[in-house]
Amino acid sequence: MSVSTITPWVIGNWKMNPVQADALSLVRGIKNLLETAPIAEDQCHLGVAPIAIALSQIQAELSSAVRPIYTVAQDVSRISGTGPYTGEVSAELLADSQIHYVLVGHSERREIFAENADILNAKIKNALSAGLTVIYCVGESLEQREAGQAEAVVLQQICDIAAVVEAEQWKNIVIAYEPIWAIGTGKTASPEDAQAMHAQIRQGLSQITGYGATMAILYGGSVKPENAVELAACPDINGALVGGASLNAESFHKIAHAFANTQ
Ligand code: PEP
Repeated sequence: MSVSTITPWVIGNWKMNPVQADALSLVRGIKNLLETAPIAEDQCHLGVAPIAIALSQIQAELSSAVRPIYTVAQDVSRISGTGPYTGEVSAELLADSQIHYVLVGHSERREIFAENADILNAKIKNALSAGLTVIYCVGESLEQREAGQAEAVVLQQICDIAAVVEAEQWKNIVIAYEPIWAIGTGKTASPEDAQAMHAQIRQGLSQITGYGATMAILYGGSVKPENAVELAACPDINGALVGGASLNAESFHKIAHAFANTQ
């Protein structure tokens, strides 16, 4: 499989949004748009990541969509199984609720919740062992970019997880490159800069795993309908992790359409 045949992913990261009624109308809006302007599953995988308490409700609502739209957890515990761990949701409990995708390593978790490589590795190990697919987020800060360290930082974040990902598990990892300075700021990496970083990530992955050439590498950071077409045209950008714009059904659908059209 060559890079150009990787099926893209568009995943909406809803973060700590929205209230229940709005979440339901958002999902219904996405479902309606996919009925009137279909996007085939083999053109673009779609996912949405609601707040933890809404996972099952959103999943139930999505079950009547005309095509698969995966429900993605925004987080998973670093502790596996069940037990006295107040507030935690383990990978096994996600899988038991038929949630098969999870975000790990988002910069908000790294920065605000002090999740370091050890914590992220524990989460990834548990998620993969439970059969989940991990969307692993990497990205540099503005200071690191300005100091010329962007590539080294991102490649280190990729190398960090090699300690816990077994050979055959790499096919259950999707990478999301999200420069921190572009998240929620309205600033997007230029398609050239994003493509350059994605190519470096792919090269780095290929040194670690035989799946490097076929892994989806998503871009995230203020993706919107206005910039999605240009980003989607880049050969190593295989989709998008979308925050703000995913809270609007039309924007989400347009972004998905942009990536689907590259197939
Ligand atoms: C994100 O948080 O993953 C993200 C990319 O957010 P936004 O699209 O709002 O920049």
